[in-house]
Amino acid sequence: MRTAEEYRAKLRSMRKNVYIDGKLVERDDPQLIPGINVIAETFNFAHDPAYAELMTARSHLTGKTINRFTHIHQSVEDLLKKQEMTRVLCQHVGGCIQRCMGVDALNALSVVTKECDLAMGTSYHERFLRYLEYFQENDLVGNCAQTDVKGDRMKRPHEQADPDLYVRVVERRSDGIVVRGAKAHNTIAPYAEEIIVLPTRHMTEKDADWAVAFAVPADAEGVYLICRATAPRPRKELKAPIAEYGGADSLTVFDNVFVPWERVFLCGETKFAGRLALMFANYHRHSYTGCKPAMTDIIMGAAALVAEYNGIEKASHVRDKLAELVAIAELVYGTGIASAVKAYRAASGTYVPDFVYTNVARYHAGVNVYREYEILADLAGGLPATLPPEGDFLNPVTRGFLEKYIMRNPAISAENQHRCFRMLSDLLCSAHAGVKQVAGVHGGGSPIMEKISIMGSYDMEAKKKIAKRLAGIQD
Ligand SMILES: Cc1cc2nc3c(=O)[nH]c(=O)nc-3n(C[C@H](O)[C@H](O)[C@H](O)COP(=O)(O)OP(=O)(O)OC[C@H]3O[C@@H](n4cnc5c(N)ncnc54)[C@H](O)[C@@H]3O)c2cc1C
Repeated sequence: MRTAEEYRAKLRSMRKNVYIDGKLVERDDPQLIPGINVIAETFNFAHDPAYAELMTARSHLTGKTINRFTHIHQSVEDLLKKQEMTRVLCQHVGGCIQRCMGVDALNALSVVTKECDLAMGTSYHERFLRYLEYFQENDLVGNCAQTDVKGDRMKRPHEQADPDLYVRVVERRSDGIVVRGAKAHNTIAPYAEEIIVLPTRHMTEKDADWAVAFAVPADAEGVYLICRATAPRPRKELKAPIAEYGGADSLTVFDNVFVPWERVFLCGETKFAGRLALMFANYHRHSYTGCKPAMTDIIMGAAALVAEYNGIEKASHVRDKLAELVAIAELVYGTGIASAVKAYRAASGTYVPDFVYTNVARYHAGVNVYREYEILADLAGGLPATLPPEGDFLNPVTRGFLEKYIMRNPAISAENQHRCFRMLSDLLCSAHAGVKQVAGVHGGGSPIMEKISIMGSYDMEAKKKIAKRLAGIQD
């Protein structure tokens, strides 16, 4: 397993293809550091003996100890550990751990390449396993680039005015394929080493050129990563862990990128494009059953803390709202546990979380995102929005005023009250908070997608039968 320092060194050695705000930047650009700090923790924790059980696994390919973020789930226990690992790490960094993306894509490929081979006589699975071994041996960090830019949402790939609005194969050669198009909102991509491309939807036979899955190094020739990055506002003196971590994502452009066959995992088998899209979504939404409860934990902890500082923690409406947050977090987490416990073993041997429970959990997490922020904003009062910048707390002319007038409970120091509200400002009123809120709604698929997945897997006929029997209806 690699160390965080080895990961950072690898990033520094990569070809420059990351653009931020009009500039071509190195992968250690200051705007990317908060995101890189997040990924560094996935290496640090894996080397901490206290977290070995959670953070590491035994490779089913080589028998070696590997970082769980490169592991293919071999049991229910593996799925439960991944979920718990995600919650623990997200609590630690105060937000998205981001590395789930790659492992979710690997697990989806491990299932669907095998299914495709069994049905179509292809040989994607063996090819995928060789790539997986390379990924595990090098302890790589992967982005999953699934979401196409999609153009007209009501049109299929082959119906678009510009065929490049979904990533597609533009040339098939003896040694590989050439692909063109762009994927949107790719979290982690500017500091990932591999980009794993999966289809975003079901495909018809006319969409064969768009039914493609492959992996490329993130700095491959022809790949452009056009990024935005956010983090809590940097601190001058009142250093706080939350301000060390952030995130970035990219519009990932594939401008005639060559992909050798050994890195192509689907190419034209339209029947399996939708299956792969849904399988990734299923694994990724299962990861959400770990990360979303962690987000709620952070909001809940901050809400309880500010209620205490404001002296209102015993008020009945406060306890009611905190209980609501507990109910959201633990309902989502518990449903994720159910999804793991009800997992099935696919033909490849990989464990697949239950589709209905996974999607139900992700749905509840998504619809409650703004409610959680509403509760935090309610209990905090207006100060997170109007808190003067840190410099005014440091200026000798204004410092005394600010420390005197921030006071609530005299037993809590002005500095701690200031720290609390500055973190709330990060959580509620920063650009980073805005991104997290939208991520909570759309990440892993828009809310309707979870309902579509639920209805695609749910046995509604069985429920109709119950109703018919109770009503005495005999067909
Ligand atoms: C912060 C963040 C990080 C993300 N990270 C990643 C990542 O790393 N990798 C990745 O692949 N994706 C990532 N996503 C993408 C995420 O999965 C998408 O945002 C999501 O699937 C919605 O797609 P969209 O943004 O194109 O919105 P749209 O699809 O345009 O959705 C807008 C609205 O249109 C509706 N709609 C869309 N199509 C139809 C249709 N045919 N019929 C009826 N209604 C329709 C949707 O339901 C929604 O209500 C990320 C998103 C965010 C916000």
